[in-house]
Amino acid sequence: MIPDQDFIKKQDIPGPTKEEVRCLVMCKSQVSSKDVVVDAGCGTGGLTLEFARRAKKVYAIDKNPDAIKVTRLNLQKHHLEGNVHLIEGNAPQILNEIPDFDILMIGGSSGELPSIIEKGYQKLKDNGRIMVTAILLETRVEAVKAMSDLGLVVDVIDVSISKGRIIERGTMLEARNPVTIISAHR
Ligand code: SAH
Repeated sequence: MIPDQDFIKKQDIPGPTKEEVRCLVMCKSQVSSKDVVVDAGCGTGGLTLEFARRAKKVYAIDKNPDAIKVTRLNLQKHHLEGNVHLIEGNAPQILNEIPDFDILMIGGSSGELPSIIEKGYQKLKDNGRIMVTAILLETRVEAVKAMSDLGLVVDVIDVSISKGRIIERGTMLEARNPVTIISAHR
């Protein structure tokens, strides 16, 4: 995994997804070198870069041009731009315009989660996977519902991690925000 501090950050752009959570997303997605991946809501590029190292091709989508810019900078910094297509736009529309894929990772949706999941499912190859990383309560519920409505078996894990920080008296554990990873297989 790429250490958190090795990402270029831009003000107001969320991410990168913390290293330990990226690790679980990679595991759960079972990404391989044959896979075409879509990262819908790429933010800082935390997950885009990890997928770029492991997949055949990655489409990274964000509606915020600054997110596209910072993801590009991070790809360049880590020499990973070769197999990544960066696309500025709203995920539901862009999903209609790209070829079928093996993994759909949804990192941001701004109220469009059901439509992103539905559209994504239509373009998901056999044995494809859909994943959502949720920080909002509402996103967790919406993701489970949208996947269940498609008849999928939903896998939910909630990740609460504390990271040790060395201080004078010892190691202090600092809690990080919980993230829920919701996923399903086609
Ligand atoms: N996983 C990323 C962080 C994602 S932050 C990382 O590790 O760096 C969520 C992003 O989703 C934001 O940049 C936001 O602009 C984007 N987003 C939210 N709704 C969207 C939509 N409907 N279409 C495209 N991008 C969207």
